[in-house]
Amino acid sequence: MKKIIVAGAGGFIAGHLVKELIKKGNSVRAVDIKPLNEWYQVSEDAENLVLDLRLRDNCYIAVKGCNEVFNLAADMGGMGFIENNKAACMISILINTHLLIASRDCGIERYFYASSACVYNGEKQTDPNNPGLKESDAYPALAEDGYGWEKLFSERMCRHFSEDFGLTTRVARFHNVYGPYGTFAGGREKAPAAICRKVIEAGITGKKEIVIWGDGHQTRSFMYIDDCIKGIQDIMYSTINEPINLGSSEIVSINQLVDIVEDIAGYKLERKYDLNAPKGVRGRNSENTLIKRYLGWEPSILLRKGMKKTYDWIKEQMTDEGSKKGKMDRFNK
Ligand code: NAD
Repeated sequence: MKKIIVAGAGGFIAGHLVKELIKKGNSVRAVDIKPLNEWYQVSEDAENLVLDLRLRDNCYIAVKGCNEVFNLAADMGGMGFIENNKAACMISILINTHLLIASRDCGIERYFYASSACVYNGEKQTDPNNPGLKESDAYPALAEDGYGWEKLFSERMCRHFSEDFGLTTRVARFHNVYGPYGTFAGGREKAPAAICRKVIEAGITGKKEIVIWGDGHQTRSFMYIDDCIKGIQDIMYSTINEPINLGSSEIVSINQLVDIVEDIAGYKLERKYDLNAPKGVRGRNSENTLIKRYLGWEPSILLRKGMKKTYDWIKEQMTDEGSKKGKMDRFNK
C-alpha cells in the first residue's frame, strides 16, 4: 500500500482529496497548520498531523516514510484576501520549498503542486471576452501581484527539482474551485461561496439587495470540486511534466453567476455595485486544449448543477441547527 501525504488537508480542496485517496485504498497522512477542530473535514482513517509546513524540520516529519506528496497548503483566499495580504501569500514559498527539499532527501517518488490561474500575465486578461488562457500565456511573466508570483516561482522550483534532482513533479494551474466544505465567510471566501452566502442572508433578513464587487461584467470560469479532485489525480499519475490548466471553460460574468444563484434561491435581489472593492482581472477563462490532448478529458460539471449543491450546503451551515453545532465558525476564519 502506498503512503501519501496531503498538505493543507484542513482546507477545502485537500480535505476532499484525502477522502478520495482513502476511498481508493491508500494510506494517507493529512497535515495542516490549523488545530484539528478547525479542519473543514477530518478523515478518521487518515493519520492527521498539525504542523507548520513553513518550517523545514516539520516538512521532514511530514514526508518521512511516504511515497508521494500532494502539496495544497497555502495561506490564501479570494480576491479580498490576496489583494490585501501579498506578503503573507508570498511566505507560502517556504512551504513548497521545504517540502521539495524534504521530498528530495526522503526519496519521494511523485510530487504534486497546486498552482493557480493567478500566474497568468495580467495584460492577457483585460477583456471580459477572454478566449481562454493557454499555458504559454504565463510568459512573459506579469503574474497577480504577491500570490501569483509565489505560485509562478514555486512552479519553476518544481521544474528544476525535477531536472536537477530527478524528483518527479506535477503542476496543475487551478482555475476557481468551488463546492461544499469550503470557506464562505470571514474574508477568505471566493465569489461562488460569497454570492451564495449573500443571497441566503438576503432571504433570511428580508433585506432584498446584494452588494456585488465591481460592475458585475468581469468574467471567470468556476470548476466544481469533483472535477478538481479527478483532475488532480489524473495529472499526478500522468506523464505531464509541464504546468497544465485544470479549470472549467464555461465562462460567465459575475452578474450571470448571481442570476444562477437567484434562480436556485427562487427570488431576485436589487443589485448594488461596489466599484472600489477588490475585483481582480477583467476576464479569465481556462483554455483546455492541452489537458484534452493529454488526458482526453476536461472539467465538465455544469455550473448550475455544482452551484445548486454548493448553495444547499452553505444554506444548511447557516441555519440555526448548523450554527448550533458550531459548524459555521470553522468556515469563517
Ligand atoms: P484552503 O485555504 O481551504 O486550504 C489551504 C490550507 O493550507 C488551509 O487549511 C491552511 O490552514 C493550510 N496552510 C496554510 N499555511 C500552512 C502551513 N504553514 N502549514 C500547513 N498548512 C498550512 O485553500 P484551497 O481552496 O483548498 O486551496 C488549496 C490549494 O489550491 C492552495 O495551494 C491554493 O493556492 C490552490 N488554489 C486554489 C484555488 C481555489 O479556487 N480554491 C484556485 C487556485 C489555486
